[in-house]
Amino acid sequence: MPSGPTFVIVGASLAGARAAEALRTEGFEGQIVLVGHEPHYPYERPPLSKGYLLGSEDRDSFVVHGQGWYAEHGIDLRLSTGVTAIDRDLRQLALSTGETLGYDKLLLTTGATPKLLPVPGATANGVLYLRSVDDSDRLRGTLSSASRVVVIGAGWIGLEVAAAARAAGVATTVVSLDEQPLLPVLGPEVSPVFADLHREHGVDLRLGVEVESIQVSADAATGVRLADGTELAADAVIVGIGVDPAAELAVNAGLEVDEGVLTDAALRTSDPDIYAAGDVARAYHPLIGHRVRVEHWANARHQPVAAARAMLGQEVAYDRLPYFFSDQYDLGMEYTGYVTLDRYDRVIFRGDVAKREFVAFWLSRGLVQAGMNVNIWDVADEIRDLIRDGLPVDPERLADPSVPIPDTRAKF
Ligand SMILES: Cc1cc2nc3c(=O)[nH]c(=O)nc-3n(C[C@H](O)[C@H](O)[C@H](O)COP(=O)(O)OP(=O)(O)OC[C@H]3O[C@@H](n4cnc5c(N)ncnc54)[C@H](O)[C@@H]3O)c2cc1C
Repeated sequence: MPSGPTFVIVGASLAGARAAEALRTEGFEGQIVLVGHEPHYPYERPPLSKGYLLGSEDRDSFVVHGQGWYAEHGIDLRLSTGVTAIDRDLRQLALSTGETLGYDKLLLTTGATPKLLPVPGATANGVLYLRSVDDSDRLRGTLSSASRVVVIGAGWIGLEVAAAARAAGVATTVVSLDEQPLLPVLGPEVSPVFADLHREHGVDLRLGVEVESIQVSADAATGVRLADGTELAADAVIVGIGVDPAAELAVNAGLEVDEGVLTDAALRTSDPDIYAAGDVARAYHPLIGHRVRVEHWANARHQPVAAARAMLGQEVAYDRLPYFFSDQYDLGMEYTGYVTLDRYDRVIFRGDVAKREFVAFWLSRGLVQAGMNVNIWDVADEIRDLIRDGLPVDPERLADPSVPIPDTRAKF
């Protein structure tokens, strides 16, 4: 039976489960309570728009831990339970069950929720979002019977859903406000690669257009009307226009929140007994030099481990570089680093862009800020080291696939 202080983790998904695991690995013997809205044991989300949606992966392959693991490690897992309020003075949580729960230290891993489409008709049946395994089940059912769908949003989720829809033989249109898919993430040099990829697989891309409304008949979506007057008929509409941090609890508790729960490099919020990690946290990053909120799997895996250590009083500064991956058709990619569109002055390609076997590097004043390897493997660590070094690279050597990536640093 655990004894000592009680640490509560709100949000029983990847970040929450990883924090609970790290607390035990670090030798914490007190009570750990992991509370989550969803009825499912904590699971990873990437397969929901890839293998699981395609029917090639089953649920057991992406649970964080098997069912017995939580009891074996003395973790009090409360599923189908929401935390509705934090009373910081009493150090107590209100639960959706009507109970209260005291804490000595609290970790928020409440993640993110899809942004809702703000147009008429958007609440009709057949307008779908993708965040949970239940959403993925619903979408898989829809793709098995639909003959045409419209995907709104050309970010990672929208494009992966489009690829799954094409694999299911469904006629697919992707609509985006941006002039290219993934433009805000990859910039104008690299994003056309994804436009070509999807067009080659038969996706009808409608770019630079706004959705005016969802067309509805008998409370079910029948299509999408664009601001230019175009009407696109559809059996279902899938919306992937980004996520918002699930920060309502933190806001109501008076914690500092600004596009995520604000933390220092040790994942500590403006209340020293409350921490945040994963998609909900906007944490100070010592290498990047400002706060960033990272909505990716690797961050939800590693950042909570740092938060757990900080909760145990260890000196922690979480400085892992952001990393994420995506799979669409026969394209697999990994992206390492962090750069915004206004923070780079040059993109260098290495390899064969037309064949979609290349690495793209985003540079600012001769320094690599981020790199993306497409259908080329085992280079993400080298890219990471190049960024972490912070040393200038030689652009010609960087563009030359015969020069090993570690040898592309400029010689003086
Ligand atoms: C379809 C899909 C595909 C993805 N693919 C990739 C990919 O290919 N590569 C990649 O790097 N990343 C990918 N991601 C992103 C990655 O899954 C997320 O970064 C990760 O899930 C974040 O984990 P988290 O634990 O911080 O938050 P979440 O996974 O959002 O979990 C938060 C949990 O907290 C619960 N919760 C919220 N509020 C409360 C409350 N008040 N009380 C109780 N419980 C609460 C929620 O119900 C949820 O279960 C994908 C995401 C999705 C949805």
